[in-house]
Amino acid sequence: MNIILLGPPGAGKGTQARRLVEERGMIQLSTGDMLREARTSGTEMGNKVAAIMDSGQLVTDEIVIGLIEEKLNGDHGGGFIFDGFPRTLAQADALGALLTSHDATLDAVIEMSVDDEALVSRITARSTCGACGEVYNDETKPIPTDGKCTNCGGTEFKRRADDNADSLKTRLMEYYKKTSPLLGYYYAKGDLTSVNGLGEIEEVASAISAVLK
Ligand code: AMP
Repeated sequence: MNIILLGPPGAGKGTQARRLVEERGMIQLSTGDMLREARTSGTEMGNKVAAIMDSGQLVTDEIVIGLIEEKLNGDHGGGFIFDGFPRTLAQADALGALLTSHDATLDAVIEMSVDDEALVSRITARSTCGACGEVYNDETKPIPTDGKCTNCGGTEFKRRADDNADSLKTRLMEYYKKTSPLLGYYYAKGDLTSVNGLGEIEEVASAISAVLK
């Protein structure tokens, strides 16, 4: 089963994708994570995209399509969760063609809808465990006072360079201009289902499970 989690930054795509990996053995393909890894390891591509990512703009279709193509050539495990990809119509077309060339199908596109005000407060207060990616929020889910991640016991927490009010404005604008047309695109194909991304993590997870049944 191959699915896309679609939604603006801060909608909870990464959190839900990690659950699906644990519960169903699916493989999370997050182009954001891949690009951050490329930056950390200092590859030529990583250095090229760093400033664009920090500003909140999208990197070129060519780069992210190349990243996904490489992964589709590897192990397909229990299916793929596309998280943060596709983000443009060109990427959506490319994904369709890539899946077809691997005799694979797209089984569901799940929109996680969250209102803009909630996104801003989620993102500007967000930090994650450096070891397992568990997400914390300064107000609603602070890092435990013993400084240990509740999920894995890790003790290093990170804030993303682009989780600030300025970059977020650009990221939201990019989402509405370039990514939100994908909702119509997948609706027209009959692939789209929306879930309310504002609930508790468990509630959102069971709404997603219901779609996947
Ligand atoms: P994310 O972790 O998904 O929020 O992505 C972080 C940043 O990586 C984005 O703001 C973009 O600069 C870049 N990025 C991630 N995925 C894509 C994509 N599919 N297309 C273009 N840029 C992307």
